[in-house]
Amino acid sequence: MAISVGIGYDSHRFADDRRLILGGVEVPHEMGLSGHSDADVLTHAIIDAVLGAAGLGDIGEVFPDTDPAWEGADSISLLSTVIGMLRGPITNVDATLICEQPKLGPHRPAMVARLSEITGSRVSVKATTNEQMGWIGRGEGIACMAVAAVNLD
Ligand code: MG
Repeated sequence: MAISVGIGYDSHRFADDRRLILGGVEVPHEMGLSGHSDADVLTHAIIDAVLGAAGLGDIGEVFPDTDPAWEGADSISLLSTVIGMLRGPITNVDATLICEQPKLGPHRPAMVARLSEITGSRVSVKATTNEQMGWIGRGEGIACMAVAAVNLD
């Protein structure tokens, strides 16, 4: 088996009048994330991890944010497009969301279920705070790191 691993990172700033979408799941919160698409920071990090594992570039190359086609895009559908570019299945995905608010623990099972369904693989979603340090600690936005393993056989 030729397992290839990729890493992804993304961050988005909080903004008023936006829905908060994480892993394709709407999380109730007074603010959402700003971005060209639905700003699903978790799914974006996973997309970059999958693209990295497959050596297919990055999310900005595949879905340029200057292209009106991706304005308000459902990031889950972007992830599906990327999965369609792979030669083999995703083995597993592991991700960590980093923010002070909202508390994400109660929403993790729904994110895992949605992402497992889309990727056809074992998915782990973890959440932590930044211990009130820096821009994340000040509640300015959400960051996410992800790794994905893809079987390229
Ligand atoms: Mg992004």
